[in-house]
Amino acid sequence: CGVFGVCGVEDAANFVALGLHALQHRGQEAGGIVSYHPDHGFNSARRFGYVRDNFTKQSLMDTLPGGLAIGHVRYSTAGSKGNTQIRDVQPFFGEFSMGGAAIAHNGNIVNADALRCELIDRGSIFQSSSDSECIIHLMARSLQRKVPERMQDALRRVEGAFSIVAMTRTKLIGVRDPLGVRPLVLGRLGDGYALSSETCALDICGAEFLREIEPGEMVVIEDGQVTSHRPFQAERPRFCIFEHVYFSRPDSILGGRSVYETRRQIGVELAREAPVEADLVCPVPDSGTPAAIGFSQESGIPYAMGIIRNQYMGRTFIEPTEQIRNMGVRLKLNVNRALIRGKRVILVDDSVVRGTTSIKIREMILDAGAKEVHFRIASPPTAWPCFYGVDTPEREKLLAATMSEDEMCAHLGMDSLNFISLDGLYRAVGETAGRDPERPQYCDACFSGDYPVRPADGIEKGFKM
Ligand code: SF4
Ligand code: MG
Repeated sequence: CGVFGVCGVEDAANFVALGLHALQHRGQEAGGIVSYHPDHGFNSARRFGYVRDNFTKQSLMDTLPGGLAIGHVRYSTAGSKGNTQIRDVQPFFGEFSMGGAAIAHNGNIVNADALRCELIDRGSIFQSSSDSECIIHLMARSLQRKVPERMQDALRRVEGAFSIVAMTRTKLIGVRDPLGVRPLVLGRLGDGYALSSETCALDICGAEFLREIEPGEMVVIEDGQVTSHRPFQAERPRFCIFEHVYFSRPDSILGGRSVYETRRQIGVELAREAPVEADLVCPVPDSGTPAAIGFSQESGIPYAMGIIRNQYMGRTFIEPTEQIRNMGVRLKLNVNRALIRGKRVILVDDSVVRGTTSIKIREMILDAGAKEVHFRIASPPTAWPCFYGVDTPEREKLLAATMSEDEMCAHLGMDSLNFISLDGLYRAVGETAGRDPERPQYCDACFSGDYPVRPADGIEKGFKM
């Protein structure tokens, strides 16, 4: 998911709509905005579909007045997966004795089922199936008077990943979980401030990137002042390495590093680890493009657009149902036949999850007359589900969970198949000595099975530790 918030500017909701549009790659199912105006109170709008199809309409934006607003773009990882109801669309809003608050959450709460049971037993009335709603109910039960303290109380009970943007009548609040699994950044926007999942959304509204919210930090912005709090016990950060590989936009800066440059470097590493003789290096667009450029630069094999992407399709993976995903590949990608015929082609993609995409692409490319197809993948084999906000399927559906690399190569019908090593990936994100097995610098659980937080609700879902 993507979160964005703005304070201290006129018509804050318009900026939030812009920011959410730039974060659309983080969630395409639905979006929502809450704003506050002293004369009109809190207002909210939640809609299915793209930001640009909803939050560009003047009639809708007129219902969201005020100088303080937050928003969310949704991609379902918990709750009613693939069957989002409008009640599951964030931001969520709660009315407390000291006034209301709205929150937008990116991440995944691993003890949400347990918390929900407990809260329902004690009288909470849940409105949605979302794990994030727990936070509002926990806040309601807190005995603290002020919203930031209520939030701190609530979040101390929450396990898992959260990057949150929240607001009261006067405050804009940003929080990151102690591991800092999901990104969150602070920017200066005119006389006000903006909080965003990624820097690319600051760029779109002309905000200046100031800094990241640190893992375990809460910032409270009120009357033009930013105060920083440390409500949690300090832990060693474990940022999601997959944000670098796929999830974030290539024009964003994560942890002081250009995502594009990291992806290009992954391609360089891949070319060193798994060279092969061929005529062309082609990306599976768009997610494989920077790595293909790096592979081509390092290997000296020409880069070419052997697969053309229909720009009017969203991200395949994020499509929640199997059927749409299957269709999705053909709707989205087509082979550039004239270029491919008779060639030995290296295809570079970011990941193999179920293998659906790879099989379709191999069919399409052989069909177009390619002589050989070599796959190079910009991440290690995805062998474990993510419990922290990326929608990987159950373990049985992950190709790498049941097959070795050789078996995957045969199953996918490739002439060769290679994944970047975990150490190669760490080198590409700037860890020159590779992964520290004792204290891994990132979360890489979907590749390594080394989960930084035990998913309390996930044990029966095939989790092993
Ligand atoms: Fe990121 Fe993978 Fe960890 Fe999930 S399991 S947070 S996708 S690295
Ligand atoms: Mg892709």
